[in-house]
Amino acid sequence: MRKRELDKFKKLLVLEQQKILQHLSSLEGASESELSQTNTGDPVDLASVEINQASIQKLGNREKKLLSKIQYALEKIENGEYGTCESCGEQISAGRLEARPVAQYCIDCKTEMEQNERRYTDDDGKEDEDWPNDDYDDAS
Ligand SMILES: [Zn+2]
Repeated sequence: MRKRELDKFKKLLVLEQQKILQHLSSLEGASESELSQTNTGDPVDLASVEINQASIQKLGNREKKLLSKIQYALEKIENGEYGTCESCGEQISAGRLEARPVAQYCIDCKTEMEQNERRYTDDDGKEDEDWPNDDYDDAS
């Protein structure tokens, strides 16, 4: 994947991470200044923000899960593994990643897994419900 594309996905991930962290800070009643310290300049800096694990317990399961997926995806960007299906090793289509930047599998593997794992309550089967359908208009 080209650096430019990676940067785009990184930005999407970080934006979402930022939203969750802001929600977290409001749950904690923390002062905004705490978060804004990490929010000066390039929002990508937030990728390295340290997240207090104890605080995270205050988030709902959905947000916790999404947050860990975002962190995981960001790590993969750093490792140069982002955008590759963890099952078959093929490239995940850009369209899928745009809709679901935390996707770990290509649509073929994902579909197959959902069929195989439907009887389990394994959370990954519901991956597609995790990512909020906010408008990211800059995708066009
Ligand atoms: Zn695959």
